Amino acid sequence: DKLQEERMRYLNDEKRIKAVTVCFTDLEGRLHMLDYDKKFLLKSADNLTFDGSSIRGFSQQSESDLRLGIDWGAFYWLPADIFGPGKVLVFGQVLERDGSAYPADFRSRLQAYTAELFAKQGIVCNVANEIEGFLFKGRNAEQHYRDTGHFEFVSTGGYYNSLPGDPLRLFIDAAAEAQRAMGFANEKDHPEVAPSQFEMNYSYTEASVAADQVLLYKLICRQLAYKLDLTASFLPKPVTGVNGSGMHTNMSLAKGDTNLFYDANGEEGLSEYGWSYVDRILTSGLDLCLLLNSSVNSYRRLDPHYEAPNQIKASAIDRGSMVRIPLGNARSARIEVRSIAPDANPHMAIYSILKVGLEGPKADTSVRKGAKVLPDNIYDAIEAFQASEIIASVLGEEIQAKYAELKIASADRCPHRLGTLIKRSEVQFH
Ligand code: GLU
Ligand code: MG
Ligand code: MG
Repeated sequence: DKLQEERMRYLNDEKRIKAVTVCFTDLEGRLHMLDYDKKFLLKSADNLTFDGSSIRGFSQQSESDLRLGIDWGAFYWLPADIFGPGKVLVFGQVLERDGSAYPADFRSRLQAYTAELFAKQGIVCNVANEIEGFLFKGRNAEQHYRDTGHFEFVSTGGYYNSLPGDPLRLFIDAAAEAQRAMGFANEKDHPEVAPSQFEMNYSYTEASVAADQVLLYKLICRQLAYKLDLTASFLPKPVTGVNGSGMHTNMSLAKGDTNLFYDANGEEGLSEYGWSYVDRILTSGLDLCLLLNSSVNSYRRLDPHYEAPNQIKASAIDRGSMVRIPLGNARSARIEVRSIAPDANPHMAIYSILKVGLEGPKADTSVRKGAKVLPDNIYDAIEAFQASEIIASVLGEEIQAKYAELKIASADRCPHRLGTLIKRSEVQFH
């Protein structure tokens, strides 16, 4: 098509570019990258294949050769001061051998679902993630933790600190500049509540672009930290006794200029439509939990004493609730899903929330008050996930089973019922 032609001509003419990184995610949301020589890519863009047998959640003999399409709309220059000169990245689409969409590629599934929503109902889903993380001393802090049982903070500055020369502040500034250079609309970048913790926020953007930005954000933070001899970690609860890291996901649906979630006279300024979306999410809160809190470690974060949600309810003020309704106006009315950790697969998480919010079963409005709590360990979340009919219909039974199998394997590697201290075996890059 036209965009492909345009971008390929650009690649061809831009002498600084020698290679192109094509990336996609596995079922658990890990970013995988293939670096293609530019000349090869320009010749073979419509015929790329790769071996899917070693990709987690893809692995089956019959699937070993998969096709890789290119999403020419998701094309980024990587900032030269962090990644080196002449680097561009483009997102790929995982395809079956016959060219149809591969069901474990949730980036494509989210795109397909939002496209259908727009085509059939003229509705656009807007998303803004608030991603939190920690900055630790050393290039391989997670290995250091496995060896010594300690993470070393780079800063003791605290919330919104203004200390000159603070390594956390310098990191946040540089990461935010890199994101702007890549076209992200940053709104607010700041040290978070825990020591050495950071958060960066973006303006609303279309759901699948927002999920792409989560992956790119983590990539930038990790690469920049590496350059500075530090580690950026997105473990949900790396240190006991201080706040963990969340990935609060703000969402609203719009039709043209109308925010469908807004009603000045509605409860908390939210429309009936918005509340029905919230009720559906809460009704299936337990079913969704494993997709939003996908690691053993993420269950340590869900503690209201550390501003993290463990209650399946909706509230304007209580930060211990799964869904918060922030103060909003006609433009900004939205819901904030708080029980998502930064190591979740962002495309899969957003896809599932959106689908459940629009099509899931709905209990009565008492679900908002919240008698139920989220599980405090991954085994209980796996059990609810496996037994869930709505999950089977949202993901498909095969993906449901594959995902559960991966999670059981990782849970069995790090038994959780061993006191409150983080287990060394559960510290891993994601
Ligand atoms: N760090 C908290 C969490 O784990 C959130 C703090 C905040 O409300 O920004 O979700
Ligand atoms: Mg925060
Ligand atoms: Mg928040």
